[in-house]
Amino acid sequence: TFNGLWATKTDDAISVALARLEDDQLMDGDVTVAVDYSTVNYKDGLAVTGKGAIIRKFPLIPGIDFAGTVESSRNPGFKPGDRVVLNGFELSMTHHGGYAQRARVPAEWLVKLPDSISAKDAMAIGTAGYTAMLSVLALEHGGITPDRGPVLVTGASGGVGSISVALLSKLGYRVIASTGRVQEADYLKRLGAAEIIDRASLSEPGAPIAKPKWAGAIDSCGGHTLANVLAQTDYRGTVTACGLADSMELPGSMAPFILRNVTLAGIDSVNAPQSVRSVAWTRLATDLDLGKLETTVQEIGLAEVPQVAAAILEGKVRGRTLVDVNR
Ligand code: NAP
Repeated sequence: TFNGLWATKTDDAISVALARLEDDQLMDGDVTVAVDYSTVNYKDGLAVTGKGAIIRKFPLIPGIDFAGTVESSRNPGFKPGDRVVLNGFELSMTHHGGYAQRARVPAEWLVKLPDSISAKDAMAIGTAGYTAMLSVLALEHGGITPDRGPVLVTGASGGVGSISVALLSKLGYRVIASTGRVQEADYLKRLGAAEIIDRASLSEPGAPIAKPKWAGAIDSCGGHTLANVLAQTDYRGTVTACGLADSMELPGSMAPFILRNVTLAGIDSVNAPQSVRSVAWTRLATDLDLGKLETTVQEIGLAEVPQVAAAILEGKVRGRTLVDVNR
């Protein structure tokens, strides 16, 4: 038996509670993993509170990511002792996720961790950090080098935002951090932000095109925020869009695309192909200052997940929340 969070549904309400689970409650998969850590991402907030229809099959162990060590494998690509990470795929949707001491999953969903990244580091990075890396790769693909000008990060105190700031600054970009928590300015400056702007300056309906202020941007907000970010992006700039912390709408104009040749690059971490995942994790091993990451992390146990899940939806969680499933 092992400990895990167990999500059940009655009528329209879902409830999530700590439970003792049996191995035969695990789902199909050829690799069994002893989980060390999971995390709380925005999507976990939606899943665990039931505010988003993330979990499609009940009862289910939630948790969209985990890192741990292979216990047994029927797949020749993995052997006991391999250190692995899993971000996304069907976790916490139709397949048991990371909020448990044990997971059984298809081998195709796992990535082996680079030697320099521990299971704890991997989850301090988590899906948010891996998505931040995918966003940086998309900026590079768009030709946005540090000499092109500053790069804006929205939702900068959040998980994707914090790690984007740290990555971009280490890579030599001048980072402008947009936040609703200007009191967190020192935290963001320690992560590497050169300039802080109040997110209120981006959240109201704005001009279809405006004075260019950045060569590129990593946006995790959507809505008017993203429309205003696009309007203030310089000629041939690239803006990545991964999230909807502001809104799922995109109430913008064609002007930045056809007058400034701006590229809007979509980011999906959930179904990204293995080749892309491997590049992202390899780059995280070299391009992220893990020491800086420590200032972004708080650690909790399984029982505290529901409380943090509610807080993240209210924008009250700073940086990353690690879940020690063995605590
Ligand atoms: P998070 O830690 O909650 O960060 C989101 C940040 O956005 C908040 O910390 C806050 O930062 C800002 N924010 C909150 N409400 C806002 C509002 N109404 N308007 C503007 N900004 C607001 O969440 P996360 O885990 O980093 O995820 C961020 C977003 O990316 C979520 O929408 C998530 O679903 C999405 N995501 C998508 C993928 C993908 O594969 N596409 C992967 C990971 C995450 P400040 O206080 O600094 O303003």
